[in-house]
Amino acid sequence: MLYRSVPKTGDRLSILGYGCMRLPTTRTGGVDEERTVRQIRHAIDAGINYLDTAPIYHLGRSELVLAKALEGDYRKKVRIATKLPHWEVYGRGDMERILNRQLSILKTRHIDYYLLHSLGRGSFLKLRNLGVLDFLDDAKKDGRIRNAGFSFHGNLSAFKEIVDAYDWQFCQIQYNYLDEKNQAGTEGLEYAAGKGLAVMIMEPLRGGNLAGRIPEQVRAIWDAAPVKRTPAEWGLRWVWNHPEVTVVLSGMNDEAHIDENIHTAGEGFEESLTSEEIARIDKVRDIYRDLMKVACTGCGYCMPCPAGVDIPGCFADYNAASLFPRDRAGKFQYVGRHGGLMGEPSYAGLCRTCGKCAKACPQHLPIPALMKAVSAEMESMMWAAIPVMKGALWCMNKAARIRHVFMGE
Ligand code: SF4
Ligand code: SF4
Repeated sequence: MLYRSVPKTGDRLSILGYGCMRLPTTRTGGVDEERTVRQIRHAIDAGINYLDTAPIYHLGRSELVLAKALEGDYRKKVRIATKLPHWEVYGRGDMERILNRQLSILKTRHIDYYLLHSLGRGSFLKLRNLGVLDFLDDAKKDGRIRNAGFSFHGNLSAFKEIVDAYDWQFCQIQYNYLDEKNQAGTEGLEYAAGKGLAVMIMEPLRGGNLAGRIPEQVRAIWDAAPVKRTPAEWGLRWVWNHPEVTVVLSGMNDEAHIDENIHTAGEGFEESLTSEEIARIDKVRDIYRDLMKVACTGCGYCMPCPAGVDIPGCFADYNAASLFPRDRAGKFQYVGRHGGLMGEPSYAGLCRTCGKCAKACPQHLPIPALMKAVSAEMESMMWAAIPVMKGALWCMNKAARIRHVFMGE
């Protein structure tokens, strides 16, 4: 395993982090605890020392199972990262309650890396107005958290504003060879690293789109390479090639993939890809872009939309779904991100066809017409599941409050 340092503290972290958002599940959909514990301990034994979880992963089970995996000596060997869900926060009391509950669930006195979860400009302003920066200062002072950071899914300008708003130790962004100009992108990565933040990477394989089942045209390019690597290896090596990257998170649940990723991490040196290899990855990127339905680069010039549509975000999910039309995962992702489950809704169907965005788009995309296509394709059957999912989240919040009031959790 290779390690990289957190610039502000010198903490040495494994370049491969264990993402606990896609743990192995049982036939009934629950987390397969025994298998998960075995996998996590195996990964730690192989040198992984950064484990990332959140209250929302596996509807609250991820933190619980991670605590089991870290019983005994394992807790001492790792750094735990978990997150504050802004959609459950209405005041300072909620921040305290949620953090204290996480410490109790994770059976630990401190969280090593604590993130404000899934920020964009609006959610950050909301949390800041509620006093979250004082909360982070106080939690660091009293030792409940060691490092403060945030994970991010907004646009580049919002990212820079948030980076500049506090003395963060780290941040977490979506980054892979298709997302160089999407969300924070390469410019955001370099900006954050330039300000001394460690940068953790999520979605290095675009939710699996860049590995596993891949389009035939892409397979042909990988097969023609003199060095044989799996699509996942190419994708991960591309991310680690950037010296600004500290940890790459992979949501792992299969023993063979865990071992493959650990093996790849042993070769994930900075600036280790040749110019020919980078050119090959560029070719693959071009093919993916051809296959995708909308040539949106994620630049964000069209934002903000007065109707609240996350224009680049909707296009990104629409494109992901178009690579494999029979796969429903992309549509689920769209519902989760834009359906209003974790904040304000931002789906394409909100578009009022005002045309403001199209005038600003450097790609000259007919955005209002495309929004209609996205809405028709992505907001069909699964849209009906939103009230059910909202109801489940509401029940989880209520249950947490009841436990807090009656059991002091
Ligand atoms: S045309 Fe639609 S998506 Fe574009 S700015 Fe107006 S409301 Fe938003
Ligand atoms: S301005 Fe155009 S290319 Fe840029 S994010 Fe908006 S739709 Fe995409």
